[in-house]
Amino acid sequence: MRKKIISGVLAILMGITLIGCGDNTKATTKNTDDNKLSVIVSIYPLKEFTEKIAGDKAEVTCLVPDNMEPHDYEPKTKDFQTLTKSKVFIYNGLGMESWVDKVNETIKDKNLVIVDSSSGIEVRKEEDAVDPHIWLSLKNAEIQSQNIKDALVKSDEKNKDYYEANYNKFKEELESLYSEYKPKFDAVNQKNFITGHAAFGYLCRDFGLTQKSVENLFAEGEPTPKQLESLVGFCKENNIKTVFSESLASPKVSETLAKEVQANVVPILTLESKEDDKSYLEAMRYNLDEIYRCMLSEQK
Ligand SMILES: [Zn+2]
Repeated sequence: MRKKIISGVLAILMGITLIGCGDNTKATTKNTDDNKLSVIVSIYPLKEFTEKIAGDKAEVTCLVPDNMEPHDYEPKTKDFQTLTKSKVFIYNGLGMESWVDKVNETIKDKNLVIVDSSSGIEVRKEEDAVDPHIWLSLKNAEIQSQNIKDALVKSDEKNKDYYEANYNKFKEELESLYSEYKPKFDAVNQKNFITGHAAFGYLCRDFGLTQKSVENLFAEGEPTPKQLESLVGFCKENNIKTVFSESLASPKVSETLAKEVQANVVPILTLESKEDDKSYLEAMRYNLDEIYRCMLSEQK
């Protein structure tokens, strides 16, 4: 890891440019627009949160390319170039970006405002590992957005009122979606669901639900035959009729499990990367609605 970053920095020094992925190329050409605050975020949900608050006052670029599983991501030379030209760098935190300390070390003297979006969030752990999937909780999204708003205000004081107003509007939308689904989940007596990797722990905490997953927190490794057997047992015991599947984790394992217990496979959105045209709020509504409908049909 360290070696990669050092060689990346060297490449910049030597003036060698490598071709980046995703939107990154677009951002470097757009940086000529001096009126807009240039903001770099690590992962997709932060791009949406930032755009909601920054409106047309900022150009927001996401480091992890669309359709890529961010747990496997490592920054490229191009990313360092993009970062050093920006004003604000926002990352998720809690270990979602295993590379972030090295990046922050490299850019710390560049006058960038560096934001850990997880600041102030009550952390949950799973088998001693910190769960980084905070954005899948509407409650946490509010805190992350507040951290982002504070950073935008700090970097661009003159637009303070604009950022505050946009943040308040987004906060209301998040709270309204939460209030819509909280009583629904309170009313069902089957509160378990099966998903691809263990990304929904904070969503479960918000609504008093329980996830079981075919892959772990970091979307690593397929389950052993013994783990699969225990999942099959769990599904049968709890009358599980739906197995949620993620396009970026291991949909095959989810399909195998579903076949084993005669359940339907339904897509679920982790929002770890941009997969379709749904906004954050639309994707969260989709997730909540699918989880709720599956629980409703599996009630005892
Ligand atoms: Zn994940």
